Parts: sequence; C-alpha cells; structure tokens
Amino acid sequence: MTRTASDPTLEEACVARGMRMTDQRRIIARIIEAASDHPDVEELYRRASAIDARISLSTVYRTVNLFEEAGLVTKHDFKDGRARFELIPDEHHDHLIDIRSGKVIEFRNEEIEAIQELIAKRLGYKLVDHRLELYAVPLDDRQSAKD
Ligand SMILES: [Zn+2]
Repeated sequence: MTRTASDPTLEEACVARGMRMTDQRRIIARIIEAASDHPDVEELYRRASAIDARISLSTVYRTVNLFEEAGLVTKHDFKDGRARFELIPDEHHDHLIDIRSGKVIEFRNEEIEAIQELIAKRLGYKLVDHRLELYAVPLDDRQSAKD
C-alpha cells in the first residue's frame, strides 16, 4: 500500500527500534518497501541479489523474520505453500488472491468492515483485528491472460 512522504521508511523504523542496519539489511528493507506484489522470500532474494550478489537466501530469511518480529512487516499465507510479506500498512486492507496466477489484489470494503465488528459484538467481543482472504478465479479468462 502507498505511504505518504511523512511516514518513516522501513529503514528508519528499524533504526528507531535500535536495529543494527547493515548494507544488506538496508537493501532488503528497500525492496520490501518498493514491492506491491506481496513477494515471498525467494522473490525477495532474487531482487536483493540483483543489487548485491553477496546477499544469501539465509540472510534474506533472517532479515525478514527480524522485521516481522519488530512488527514492521507482516506475513501472509495465501495457501500456495509460500509465506509472503508486506509492510504493515497504515490503513487496513484485505486481499483477493487469483488462484490461477497467484496475483494478489488489495481491497477495502466498509460494509465488510462494519459487519465483522457487528458479528464480534453480537458474540460479546470488541473486534481488534481481522484477516480476510478471498480465493478466486477470473470471471473472464482473457483477464488473466493479460497479466
Ligand atoms: Zn496487502
């Protein structure tokens, strides 16, 4: 999701949390920040090693886990067997996953947001968070062929 210029970068947020930022960690942070496609570790590794060939897959793993533990990055399981990552968004959104192409589409729907709060309330709870994933195939096959 897009961030505004006033938001701290992932790199700045890491520094603010006292994390030691090596050059490799900075590269990985920038790649996560620039990504809009919810990449998995393998894909992050591909992008990172294109910038610095010395970056190893295990470094990417460790760094992403570090970011996740610090609460800066969130992990998704979109049922395709690979953990995928994105920055914790400023504004909540949900995901639709095209199960044919693996493409992830972000959306937000106020009716869904409201109904989930209502369901929790009826069950005696105050909703504090949720995850919603829609798994779908394109209605029009030509649509997926374009991607
Ligand atoms: Zn997302």
